[in-house]
Amino acid sequence: MSSDSPSTRCQGGLRGLDLHTRAQLQDALLDAAVDGIIAIDGHGIVQLFNHAAELLFGYDADEVLGRNISMLMPGPHAEHHDDYLRAYQGGKPANIIGIGRDVEGRRKNGEVFPMHLSVGEAKTEQGRLFIGICHDLSSYKQALLNLRNAELRYRDIIESQTELIMRLDAQLRLTFCNPAMAHFLEESEEQMLGKSLLEFIHPDDRMLVKRQFEALFNAHLHQQLQVRMRCSGGERWIDWRVRALSTETRDGWEFQGLGLDITEHVHAREQARFLAAHDPLTGLSNRASFVENLRGLLEQQTLHHAALLYINLDRFKLTNESLGQNAADQILKTVATRIRSALSRHDLLARLGADHFAVLIGDVSSAGSAAVVAQRVLARINEPYMTPAGAFNLTASMGVSLYPEDGYNHEQLLRKAEAAVHEAKINGRNELVFFSERLNEQLHSTLELELGIRQALSNDGFTLHFQPKYQLKDGSLQGMEVLLRWFHPQWGAVSPTRFIPFAEGVGLARPIGEWVVRHTCAQIKAWREQGLEVPSLAINLSPQHFNEPSLREWLDRVIAEYGVPATQLELEITEGTALSNTDTLLDRLRQLREAGFSIAIDDFGTGYSSLSYLTRLPATTLKIDRAFVSRIQADTQHDPVVEAVIALGHSLGMQVVAEGVENAVQAAFLASKGCDLVQGYHFSRPLDAETAGALLRDAATPRTPN
Ligand code: C2E
Ligand code: CA
Ligand code: CA
Repeated sequence: MSSDSPSTRCQGGLRGLDLHTRAQLQDALLDAAVDGIIAIDGHGIVQLFNHAAELLFGYDADEVLGRNISMLMPGPHAEHHDDYLRAYQGGKPANIIGIGRDVEGRRKNGEVFPMHLSVGEAKTEQGRLFIGICHDLSSYKQALLNLRNAELRYRDIIESQTELIMRLDAQLRLTFCNPAMAHFLEESEEQMLGKSLLEFIHPDDRMLVKRQFEALFNAHLHQQLQVRMRCSGGERWIDWRVRALSTETRDGWEFQGLGLDITEHVHAREQARFLAAHDPLTGLSNRASFVENLRGLLEQQTLHHAALLYINLDRFKLTNESLGQNAADQILKTVATRIRSALSRHDLLARLGADHFAVLIGDVSSAGSAAVVAQRVLARINEPYMTPAGAFNLTASMGVSLYPEDGYNHEQLLRKAEAAVHEAKINGRNELVFFSERLNEQLHSTLELELGIRQALSNDGFTLHFQPKYQLKDGSLQGMEVLLRWFHPQWGAVSPTRFIPFAEGVGLARPIGEWVVRHTCAQIKAWREQGLEVPSLAINLSPQHFNEPSLREWLDRVIAEYGVPATQLELEITEGTALSNTDTLLDRLRQLREAGFSIAIDDFGTGYSSLSYLTRLPATTLKIDRAFVSRIQADTQHDPVVEAVIALGHSLGMQVVAEGVENAVQAAFLASKGCDLVQGYHFSRPLDAETAGALLRDAATPRTPN
């Protein structure tokens, strides 16, 4: 900063210069000024008009110099300007000189614009001059205007918002709320300011709110909280999204929240939750939630003794049919309330399904006290029901399992109570049956069956039988079907029709298949070592095998172990299986054919294969199902199915086998129709290995039917 006095810095600074230089410098200053500079004389006549003034007003200096300044003013001022000037010169106070004010100017094109005008006065040799400096305010005003509009718009958004908007200080006191929020809480905006948010929160949710805000303080996060707020209609659920506006000190923090009324949504959600856990007709818990509760109680080990009652209404299907759905529904509701009335408050009651109910009675000291409650329930169910069609009687069967005697987990307890109710039904209904050891045995039989199969697999409890197939033409032995046999140490012989489908259901099909293939191969090897010529052996495969991509590999692996060629084996697949999965199955069968195995379609005629599908099957043999063979009788001249299958097989280049041939009549009929091979009791029952070996020894000599 210079130490010059103000006077030397301004006019004084020019004084040292000669007149000419001074004039040049002044012109340059006037030209360089960004504000318009205009000088007028005492009559308002323009004496000076700089370049910036030209740009501002749109006039060339020539157009303005010598004319009255009022031409640069909008209407009202223009008219009175001369009067102001005269009044001022006559000694009246000026309200503009030396002050500077926001006024309006008028451009050449008539446009009026805002400007800031500061006026100075100079006394010269030619008299008084007034100098005005005009600063254009157009863009500034526009910016202000934009700002105001933006604010209005913003305010409009906030005020017309149906969402609740609030701002809180660090103590959770409201420092702002929008009209929607004030309206919602039924207070004026002013009344609300300064109040704690917690005042408006449901007492049960206040802890939650405090916790969530504490979390905001700790993690600088956004938070979402769903809380109940009190309002005119009681309480509503509001979903708040809160953002923290943090500062250095905790006291300076602010929070901004946007709230949405989600009451309907919450009610719908609660309703859905209720529906998911309850039976809509009776309002009782449904199976899922009963099981859930039961499991919870057992896991928490809060029960010492308990009884599970499984109730099944007798012949309710008939009730439904005879009374109609509505009346039957009414009865179900009544049953529900009657069962409930026979229980204590803590017992669990559920409707498990159509006419199934379950009750868990906690803390029953003995089977006897469980029976008392159970009988009370049955007695209540037995009371007559009033229907539009008159009084109606209903009975129920009940099965009971006890905790912990009958089981430790919900599955065991339910299964056993269910087994007991089943027993009650068999006993003639309207009965109460406790789960017993005898029922236990029955229940265990499927488990034991599975265990038995596993044991038979691991300790060769199975054996193989072989049923010969003969050429009809010449009676020669053409092959044998391998049939699995299981003799259980306690149960005796178990039919493959019982254990094979069961094994398929519990994932044991593949190990059984492997067992059969392995033991068949071992048998072939043994017979060969005895110098016997072994014909083709047919092995039954389960449908599951064809779902296995590695079927061919494991077959190859097993036969390789025993040095048995694939051509020695025929694989039987039922027509039903052949139909069930198309393209992959065809692929796998083709692979097996390529590997050298023969393929037989078993039980043919039962599966309704289409002709076109059949032509795509890479099978070598069709086996006419036993059912078609068995209906051939002495007087049968024609049998369209048998004849069609034979013709079909031959036209596709397959050999046709009739299975289950039990008598000479059937054999003769099949022979007359050109069937190739026969298999059945008439020729031979399935034989054990030893007998089959003996048969092979005689095989050189063609057999006649026995
Ligand atoms: P399938 O493949 O149709 O086997 C023929 C069944 O008919 C055998 O019953 C056989 O003993 C019986 N049978 C043979 N000739 C006659 C006859 O003249 N009259 C009558 N009524 N029946 C005759 P089995 O051995 O009880 O087998 C039943 C089914 O069990 C078989 O039906 C087959 O589906 C399945 N099976 C048997 N062994 C195996 C096996 O090793 N693996 C697989 N996956 N299934 C097998
Ligand atoms: Ca078969
Ligand atoms: Ca068959």
